[in-house]
Amino acid sequence: MNTLSNNLNSSEIDQNELSADQESQFDNLTGAKIMMVDDEPINSEMVKIFLEEVGYEHFITIDDSVKAFDLIASEKPDVVLLDLMMPEVSGFDILKQVRADKKLKYTPIIILTSSTDAETKMKALRLGANDFLGKPVDPSELVLRIRNTLAAKVYQDRLAHFDVLTDLPNRQTFINHLDWALHKSKKERFSGSVLKLDLDRFKEINDTLGPEVGDVLLQEVARRLIECLRYGDTVGRFGEDLSQTGLSRIGGNEFAVLLPSLRQLDDIVPIAERILQSLVAAFHPQQHELYITCSVGIAVFPRDGHEINSLLKHADIALSHAKQKGGNCYQFYADGLNTKSVARLKMTNDLRKAADRGELEMYYQPKVNVHTGQLIGGEALMRWNHPKLGLVSPGIFIPLAEDINLLPEIDEWGFQTTCEQLVEWLKLGKRIVPISVNITSQSFRQGRVVGAVRNVLNKSGVAPKHVKLELTESAIMENAKENIEVLYRLKEEGIKLSIDDFGTGYSSLSYLNRFPIDELKIDQSFIGSILTEPSNLAIVKAILAMAGSLDLHVVAEGVETKEQLMVLQSLNCLEYQGYYFSKPVPAKVFLEFLS
Ligand code: C2E
Ligand code: MG
Ligand code: MG
Repeated sequence: MNTLSNNLNSSEIDQNELSADQESQFDNLTGAKIMMVDDEPINSEMVKIFLEEVGYEHFITIDDSVKAFDLIASEKPDVVLLDLMMPEVSGFDILKQVRADKKLKYTPIIILTSSTDAETKMKALRLGANDFLGKPVDPSELVLRIRNTLAAKVYQDRLAHFDVLTDLPNRQTFINHLDWALHKSKKERFSGSVLKLDLDRFKEINDTLGPEVGDVLLQEVARRLIECLRYGDTVGRFGEDLSQTGLSRIGGNEFAVLLPSLRQLDDIVPIAERILQSLVAAFHPQQHELYITCSVGIAVFPRDGHEINSLLKHADIALSHAKQKGGNCYQFYADGLNTKSVARLKMTNDLRKAADRGELEMYYQPKVNVHTGQLIGGEALMRWNHPKLGLVSPGIFIPLAEDINLLPEIDEWGFQTTCEQLVEWLKLGKRIVPISVNITSQSFRQGRVVGAVRNVLNKSGVAPKHVKLELTESAIMENAKENIEVLYRLKEEGIKLSIDDFGTGYSSLSYLNRFPIDELKIDQSFIGSILTEPSNLAIVKAILAMAGSLDLHVVAEGVETKEQLMVLQSLNCLEYQGYYFSKPVPAKVFLEFLS
């Protein structure tokens, strides 16, 4: 028979292969609470002696199997050693009961049995036993089984409660802490607060530099936040334990801070400011130099809610207000914000799923010759068929999509759908006119537009001459120097480029002539008042003259009346688009124009 000291040696050898981190967890295993259920007290006594010899200290023993389950429920042991053969209530019965209990079902259970019969073992396994030990107990085997079972539990507990990437408490743990704080605040009548943090434009970094860089950045951000919360005046009482800084990682790029007891609400502001400040210095994940900011939404309990869900929702609303203000700021939840924001938040959530649910659709508006009325092109315009709200216009959902950084996906979807539509029309043997697709500055900024466009064209087999891209003047001007390069790369793909809403941005003419563009679309605000505002007529004339000298096509947008059209004819503008000829229409209606 192995002696106890033999067994200790073998476990030391195993431990050499563990990381330092795991090792420290194993050091703590002897602090585990071990429960023994056996109708013969002498058996439990033996086991206890063996385990005490290797350092375990906390034991609960019971010989009355009838009371065993209740004791497990009240003591919540880390592991149970369970005898099978007992009068009245057997080990099988107890095992069954524990596995059926919502709170106790993951309690590790090791079965003690003198039976060598396979059927008994199979039955215990089926009922959810974690391991077996033969009777009489072999001490070395006992120590090994207990250690392995406890180690698995430690690991499982860690996974269930902590975030693997940052080592911070995870969402579930945060909610548990919040639940506890809310109970306490009700009983003791004090206030507390939840701060939700969201990294601004994190997705952009993740998309452009890759998730590895994103992960390292998140780890660095977590480290800075821990420092700033640990050494702050208000929360300075927190010690080394990370869960005690109140900080958790509750989602991809979302963190939350729980301030469980506050003397006064004014205490929150310096903390929020310190959080923003802590991210100011550059980050250096994998040799990149990055600057990142965050937005903070703040809800106070019990004032803004005394339940987990309402409180988190209100912190979310405050957060989206901070985002709307451009990020890098904090925002308290206040009553007045409520109804409008809830509707907006709900719609934003719906939008995330809109494409997958097939709720997005492309409409097409004809572009026609000013003099002959002949169809010479079309513009693809997106519509959202919301199940409850009906047709939602892009004027409403594009800004929502921007908030949640969904525009690149939306743009890609629009371009792809338009190309698929062109293929369908070609298959029907229709005469094809170039269709323009709108692209936002977000897709442009991330530079991924070139690859995306190339992919879609390759996959669909649509020739580049059949599509055009429209970018607003302000989108190009926002970052003119960098954008010129992307524009040239698109040109190399054979794509024609158009500047949308021309006249509303801040183009300098000197830049315009360096952009490889083919077309200007005069903004509808000029056309709408071309007959009533002499200055607008003058602007349209100037644009036409300039475009002529740069050899650019001009499209007048928003022509609604015959009179407006006649002015354009007299100015010798060649193309227009507007309700006067047709509103944007579904694909099957546009097909009639092609015929
Ligand atoms: P835009 O690209 O300047 O599109 C022209 C807008 O003017 C369209 O509004 C069109 O329906 C409207 N319009 C056309 N003719 C007339 C007219 O005679 N009178 C008036 N009052 N309006 C006219 P829509 O479809 O609501 O789109 C608004 C904006 O949303 C678009 O302006 C574009 O910037 C954006 N957008 C639309 N679809 C998409 C898309 O698929 N992707 C992206 N990124 N943006 C889109
Ligand atoms: Mg457009
Ligand atoms: Mg426009």
